[in-house]
Amino acid sequence: MSKEIRARMPRFVVHEHHATHLHFDFRLEMEGVLKSWAVPKGPSMNPKDRRLAIMVDDHALAYGSYEGIIPEGSYGAGAVVIWDRGDYELLRGNVRESRMEVLLKGKKLKGVFALARMSGKEKEWLLIKKRDGFAEDGFQMKTVLTPSLLKKLTTKVPPCESS
Ligand code: MN
Repeated sequence: MSKEIRARMPRFVVHEHHATHLHFDFRLEMEGVLKSWAVPKGPSMNPKDRRLAIMVDDHALAYGSYEGIIPEGSYGAGAVVIWDRGDYELLRGNVRESRMEVLLKGKKLKGVFALARMSGKEKEWLLIKKRDGFAEDGFQMKTVLTPSLLKKLTTKVPPCESS
């Protein structure tokens, strides 16, 4: 009897990035890389929030576990911490169609999200929570970087240099 080898679930990560402007980087493990979007206001669990998500360069999978301080003089200089992460399922669509639905299984982000490119735009997408049992109308973004966590971070160049 042959044992079926079950591939592990793909993962997502949201980085809280204290660069010149605080933003959140939403990354989906997909096709061997981390497809990445910079979300100025961060993701929301409130289906009424339509979060602008600007597609940026793919990142190496190794970047997914990066936490640290990107050194001065490097692009995106500043502290990066993981705001949330977990497994996810691609429910429909894909990145080439510029439209998809994903089921996120994070600590903070749970349930179905739509991610779609705005018509007529090249890099601007919207990240929107779908209404389901996990939706939170009163959702407020709370950052995770504290002074004590900042002290624990070391200055190091990330696995790939990009935004
Ligand atoms: Mn960033």
